[in-house]
Amino acid sequence: MKFPLSMTAGMAGYIVKNKLRPRPEWQVNKAVQNDSSNPFKIIYTAQTGVKREPHPMINRRFPLVLMLEPLHTCNLTCTGCGRIREYESTITQKLSVEQCLAAVDECGAPMVTICGGEPLLYPEIGPLVTGIMQRGHSCYLCTNGMFMVKRLKELKPHELFFFNVHLDGMEKNHDLAVEREGVFKEAIKGIQAAKAAGFKVVTNTTVYVETDMNEIEELFGYLKQFDVDGHTISPAYGYSAVNDREIFLTRDRVYEKFVNIDKLAKKYPLQTTPVYMDFLQGKRELPCTAWGNPTYNVKGWKGPCYLITDAHYKTFEEFMTQTAWEQYGPGQDPRCEHCMMHCGFEPSAAFGINSKASDSIRMLSWLVR
Ligand code: SF4
Ligand code: SF4
Repeated sequence: MKFPLSMTAGMAGYIVKNKLRPRPEWQVNKAVQNDSSNPFKIIYTAQTGVKREPHPMINRRFPLVLMLEPLHTCNLTCTGCGRIREYESTITQKLSVEQCLAAVDECGAPMVTICGGEPLLYPEIGPLVTGIMQRGHSCYLCTNGMFMVKRLKELKPHELFFFNVHLDGMEKNHDLAVEREGVFKEAIKGIQAAKAAGFKVVTNTTVYVETDMNEIEELFGYLKQFDVDGHTISPAYGYSAVNDREIFLTRDRVYEKFVNIDKLAKKYPLQTTPVYMDFLQGKRELPCTAWGNPTYNVKGWKGPCYLITDAHYKTFEEFMTQTAWEQYGPGQDPRCEHCMMHCGFEPSAAFGINSKASDSIRMLSWLVR
């Protein structure tokens, strides 16, 4: 077992508790609703037809994973990165550790993903991770891997702490995607050093139009020798800040790319849930549940989601109550049309939206595996 059972059980307990007793202050809807007769429409486009229904969790909103961006500074300029472009004017600013931990407490999500920018350029990364661990949250530190060797000594292995290394392909194509030679080799050195020091390490891969899925299988096979603990894989989706729209996938292209993902999941420890995999294959529809994956950065709580920025809110409660949730998601906002990103749809899978009787057994066997 590579992932602690306590982490999974804790997450399951948190979901059940919040579904039964959601915090009332987060369910207030201050934003203007366009259609009072059916204010929170979602569209199911299953093979059986199109059905418009209210979002089943709209009055039971709570967060699952906090995307914490202590800074947006990065040593790379990856082709598909929206952050370094969108936050160019504040790229030298950073949150203090106190601000970061206040955000962790304010939202209370059981899982915190530290991203950016490059979090290993954050001077106080050690105290930040320690503070998150002391609060009992699990923590993923997303990194391009280039500073892992150098900064490893500032962190301590913990069963709830994971490095999450960004790898979009084998050496040649990964270095092309991040627009610098040598990055793949450095990331591999970082993975080896972290594993040798007793850390848990997972990888995350973004699939673009150009991605050859055979190469992703080759990548996972290659990483096996380093005893990597898991892999996340998700389709790229266009940030408004990125001009090159050609690199992003439409829904039909996502279905094509992910057609064999369950075979990959049988061979390698994918962290992607079976329900989200169904969604990526076009076998099931899910609504967007963007509030499940809130983002906090130097400008505040970013709404509505990790990808689109229509506002930054000062408090988490303002983000939850002042975002016009009914206006987002496929069929609602043209910017959402082809989005299948984990930040909007993995929470829907985890919350059991649109679930089937067989889901519990599949989830259990996925967890055990
Ligand atoms: S490493 Fe991450 S933050 Fe840096 S440019 Fe690439 S995608 Fe953006
Ligand atoms: S569908 Fe995607 S882009 Fe639209 S709000 Fe949800 S996560 Fe954001």
